[in-house]
Amino acid sequence: MSAMDMRVGVGTDVHPIEAGRPCWMLALLFDDADGCSGHSDGDVGVHALCDALLSAAGLGDVGAVFGVGRPEWSGVTGAAMLGHVRGLLDEAGFAPVNASVQIIGERPKVGPRRAEAQRVLSDLLGAPVSVSGTTSDGLGLTGRGEGIAAVATALLALK
Ligand code: MG
Repeated sequence: MSAMDMRVGVGTDVHPIEAGRPCWMLALLFDDADGCSGHSDGDVGVHALCDALLSAAGLGDVGAVFGVGRPEWSGVTGAAMLGHVRGLLDEAGFAPVNASVQIIGERPKVGPRRAEAQRVLSDLLGAPVSVSGTTSDGLGLTGRGEGIAAVATALLALK
């Protein structure tokens, strides 16, 4: 495999937090935090990851594949989204090499469940997925607890 056969992609996502909504993040359910509103289960971590994977393959973005114009995906779980993207990559002739996703927000705290999230996401993608978390030091919508953001990168190989 040469560097010419590799493709890198980037993805980001931001959703508002909705009081009382189940908090699905990185394909895990967090009982100690409010979740994000949205067309799907509001898992910004998986959305950013899917965006990075689609970007690397030149297959567009999460909005085009799962967006509000596609009612069949309403309420879709992060796990189902990632599984679908994995299939699209395979059809397009790409194999994931690895990916990294970072959650930006005050809650949920990712660190205590990092290993679990990495295991679940890596199984879903079929390649290593690294997970990290950070805060914005109280600044902005993530610092005020109004929303959660995520950024991801992905590396693919041409099969
Ligand atoms: Mg989203």
